[in-house]
Order: sequence, then structure tokens, then C-alpha cells
Amino acid sequence: ERRDPGQPEFLQAVKEVTASLWPFLDRFPEYGRDGLMERLVEPERVIQFRVSWVDDRGQVQVNRAWRVQHSSAIGPFKGGMRFHPTVNLSILKFLAFEQTFKNALTTLPMGGGKGGADFDPKGKSDGEVMRFCQALMLELHRHLGPDTDVPAGDIGVGAREVGYMAGMMKKLSNHAGAVFTGKGLSYGGSLMRPEATGYGTVYFVEQMLHHARRETQGARVLVSGSGNVAQFAALKADELGGKVLTFSDSDGTLYARDGFDAEAIREVAELKNLRRGRLSELAGDARFDYLPGKRPWHIPAEIALPCATQNELDGDDARTLVGNGVVCVAEGANMPSTLEAVDVFLESGTLYAPGKASNAGGVATSGLEMSQNSLRLSWHHAEVDERLHAIMKEIHGHCVRHGKREDGSVNYVDGANIAAFVKVADAILSQGVY
Ligand code: NDP
Repeated sequence: ERRDPGQPEFLQAVKEVTASLWPFLDRFPEYGRDGLMERLVEPERVIQFRVSWVDDRGQVQVNRAWRVQHSSAIGPFKGGMRFHPTVNLSILKFLAFEQTFKNALTTLPMGGGKGGADFDPKGKSDGEVMRFCQALMLELHRHLGPDTDVPAGDIGVGAREVGYMAGMMKKLSNHAGAVFTGKGLSYGGSLMRPEATGYGTVYFVEQMLHHARRETQGARVLVSGSGNVAQFAALKADELGGKVLTFSDSDGTLYARDGFDAEAIREVAELKNLRRGRLSELAGDARFDYLPGKRPWHIPAEIALPCATQNELDGDDARTLVGNGVVCVAEGANMPSTLEAVDVFLESGTLYAPGKASNAGGVATSGLEMSQNSLRLSWHHAEVDERLHAIMKEIHGHCVRHGKREDGSVNYVDGANIAAFVKVADAILSQGVY
């Protein structure tokens, strides 16, 4: 805390990981050597830069942007770019730190990084978004490369923004090497990448329920957020027989008493993706109740999938969920549960998956996109889905191996943290001190 004052999200992420690691380090003191822990919590490099661009009225706008290159121990830096007015160094350092562990869990050779800007895409025209992305790349391009650092999307950065940034990258580098993942299909994207994080989260839930011998059929599911991850988590949950009750955005929750079927989920997706609208626009629809200013967690359900943003589920929300009989909580978002909420889930015996395990399907499929780009091949839908499924199963297996309690149940937090740590630590220690 003395070293990183004013970085609460980063310190929260480090605390969560180190709480799992201290008991492990007591048992395996060989991992305590060579300043390993000190090196792990210090990004290899942080770049901060100004982005100046011209809006539609001809006014100059100035934003602040960063790229946090956390660890290249097991491969090129890899992690998304986030555009949101709340973006700051603490949030990006926490995301890059988490990403390093998550990427290690995927079994693919990717290091960890994250970047973004305090730019708010809401209410901006297409032209403004394009000019912002291009201006950002004027600086960022020199820090990227297919074997150096490969960004992707995150909150506020979808296919449109990736396209503008990848296009400018090509222009500036005079090189067609694939430096972004999450690209459009017409220029090197992978089938299934848009679906991967949400689908992967639900595949992970299936694994957890199966391992604990619990049923999924007919389970009521709370989804928060209504962006990329939320939409595909909802679609897959519905497809597998769950009843999806909610979506949310930063203004409120949309509640469907009888559940969102695939058609209703598509309507939400169209509203958010094509019209860039707000859920409140569906308030008058007889199928839905709109709950302004509310998050979904007070609604009784068996499964909760937080898919919006960090710290969107606190201790009180967790106690309400547990009181209402929630069985399984799997994070589609990064660090959506506060440390207090995590404790509530662990103490109550709820099946709880931290994002670095349950949402790793997105970056895993980005890894598959990189493989396809290197091979100059495109795998078909079923092939990518099959690999995604296999990776989620493997991550679940790692969590079970490293997180099994004496009574046979699984602490997925410890499991994910220890499995990822062992992989990153072995790579760092093998490569000497630098
Ligand atoms: P999107 O931008 O597509 O959607 C984000 C959703 O979260 C929107 O519904 C948004 O509502 C809501 N949201 C964002 N910020 C806030 C906030 N401060 N308070 C309340 N609601 C908020 O992003 P993604 O779906 O891609 O990402 C969602 C989460 O999943 C993030 O934590 C991200 O890091 C994580 N993730 C994403 C991956 C991916 O492949 N996309 C991979 C792994 C993790 P509104 O419209 O009101 O802003």
C-alpha cells in the first residue's frame, strides 16, 4: 500500500491472489526465492500517453491512455483495451495482473497486459470513435507486435474499435502481422471469438455443477451487464435449459419474470450493439420490469453470472444471493465481486468461480485466433468451439487439482491462483533475474 497509494483495485487484486499463495509458499518455500513475489507484483513496463483528437465540432479533445505490459514470462503481452471514463492506472494494473494469471491458466503461450483510455464512446459518432482510435494508435503502435504485445477488446472496445485500431496499426507498421485479436472475420478474425467469453463462462458453470453433482436444467440465472460477455453467457445459459431472468447496465436492471428466450436476448443484443441504446428503452415492454438504479442480485435464483464490471457485487449482495439459495456464482467480468463478497461465497459453500478461471475462454480463443493467423488458416465454428470447450474443462481440472479441500469440495479461488502461479513462477525462475 505504501508502494502503490491510490491504487485500490490493484491492491485488491494482489490481496486476493496472495491470500491463496501464502499457505502454498509455506509448503513450497522454493517459490519464495529470487524476489519472485516482488517481481510478480511489479509490471515489466507501463506506458502512459496523451491522445489528442478532433471531435465533430472541430474542437480538440485530449484523453489519457495507458498500456500496462505486466508479464512476458510465458509469451507476448496479451490483454484487452478498455475505453471507459472511469479507466485509470489502478484499474489497468489490476486487470493486467489478473490477465497474467488468467492467460497462464489457458495453457497457451501468452503473457499478460492490459490497456485503455478514459475516453467515453457513449454518444460519440462513428467518425469520432475512428479518429480517437487512430490517434491512440499513433503512439501505441510502437509498443505492439505479434511477438511483443497483442491487444484485444474489453469494455467499450468491440469489433468496431478493434477494426479502426488494427487498420491504423497496419498503416503505421507497413506490416500485415496480426497485432490485435477480436478482429472482424473479413481480416483475420476467428469464428467464435465474440461468443467465447460468455460461452466459456457457462461451460465452466457446467463443469462446476457436474463436479458437485448438481443439476442445471431449469435453473434460474441472473446475468448482469448487457454487453458482449453478458449477451453470450445468457444465450448459452438459455440454450442449456437455464432460465435467464436479468440483464443490466449502469442505469438499472431489466427483469423478465418468465425469462429471456433466445429471441428476447437477440433483441437486447440488437439494442446494445446496433442502436447503442439503453435497457431503459425496453421499460414499457409488457414482458419486462425495468428496475432503475438496481442491480440484479436481490432476485432469487440458483445461478449468478456477474458480467459487467469490477466490484459490482458487494458483501450485502452476496449475503442476499446466499440467503435466496444461490448454488453457483461464476464471474464473466473481471473481479466483479468485492473481497467481502468472495468471503461470503467461500464461507457459505457456494460454488464460486473467480473470473480468471471462468472468463478465460475469451483470451483462450484470442490465443486460437493468433494460432490461426500464424497458420494462415481459419478453423470452422465447431472446431473452435470444441477447443474452447476442452480448454475450459482443462482449466476446471487445474482448479480442482490445486483447490481441493479435505471434504472433497473445491476452493476455486485457491485452485486458480495456485495453478496459474506455479506456471508463471516456473517460467520466471527458469529465465533468471532480469
Ligand atoms: P461491454 O462494453 O460489451 O459491456 C460492458 C457492460 O457492463 C455494459 O452493459 C455496461 O453498461 C456495463 N458496465 C460497464 N462499466 C460499468 C460500470 N462502471 N458500472 C455498471 N455497469 C457497467 O464489455 P464486455 O462485455 O466485453 O466486458 C464485461 C466484463 O467482462 C469486463 O469486466 C471485462 O473486463 C470482462 N471480460 C471481457 C472479455 C471479452 O472477451 N470481452 C474477456 C474476459 C473478461 P453500460 O452500457 O451502461 O456502460
